[in-house]
Amino acid sequence: MGDVILSTHGLTRSFGSLKAVDDVSLEIHAGSITGLIGPNGAGKSTLFNLLTGALKPDAGSVKLNGQDASGLSPDRLFALGLGRTFQIPRPFARMSVLENVMIAPTAQVGETVAGPFLRRARMREQEKRIREKAFEVLDFMTLGPLADHPAGKISGGQMKLLELARVLMGDPALILLDEPAAGVNPVLTETLIGKIEELNRQGKTFLIIEHDMDFVMRHCDPVIALAEGKIVFQGTSDEALANPVLLDAYLGATVDD
Ligand code: ADP
Ligand code: MG
Repeated sequence: MGDVILSTHGLTRSFGSLKAVDDVSLEIHAGSITGLIGPNGAGKSTLFNLLTGALKPDAGSVKLNGQDASGLSPDRLFALGLGRTFQIPRPFARMSVLENVMIAPTAQVGETVAGPFLRRARMREQEKRIREKAFEVLDFMTLGPLADHPAGKISGGQMKLLELARVLMGDPALILLDEPAAGVNPVLTETLIGKIEELNRQGKTFLIIEHDMDFVMRHCDPVIALAEGKIVFQGTSDEALANPVLLDAYLGATVDD
């Protein structure tokens, strides 16, 4: 197993009297495709929001690459190599697919001191590089032919691919995907899985929330299960398959959402 890339200790977050995430301690190993499962309302998306800085924890800490990352903003965490997609994709509907990818935050160098002429030249150069990278990423995600389409007019499955394309602009080492296969047709799901596995072979680490147990058991290892905000299982996918509680909760039953 690779080094620990992300870890939490005692992570807790309540909404009113509801403990959505309750004392969660976990480790994500570099190079893994870790699956995060659990019934609706278990706290999976809230945990993602805590890991990515979108929500502040009431207690507990997050470490990224061994460094304390608690309380950092999503932008800062993204710059440190943590990317995420949302359960419901939210592209800028009237902008093209290409533009949506081009405006994603990139792993760019910041503003430099330069005169107006030099600055304009550099901005043109930078825009050219961003455009080239955007096309590269779109081609990789099989969205190249849709580059000029309004993002609001592509299918729900293509929007999920677009979300991942946007994340890839930042070249993150760790990518969190919230239900990437939900509502996606089987052909696009296979495309998405192929891309995830290819990126994983290139060294990227994934943490994936997914309802589809077949997806999780085939593509994720290890597996973490949440229920009512608490971790109820952590282990290999083989152990998950042999775990009576998980079997009872998930397998054989079709999980809705
Ligand atoms: P999951 O992604 O596992 O389905 P969530 O993390 O979305 O679960 O939600 C966990 C619990 O927290 C649910 O009971 C949900 O209603 C509640 N919850 C999530 N976000 C909020 C919020 N912003 N305000 C109030 N309650 C919330
Ligand atoms: Mg969710």
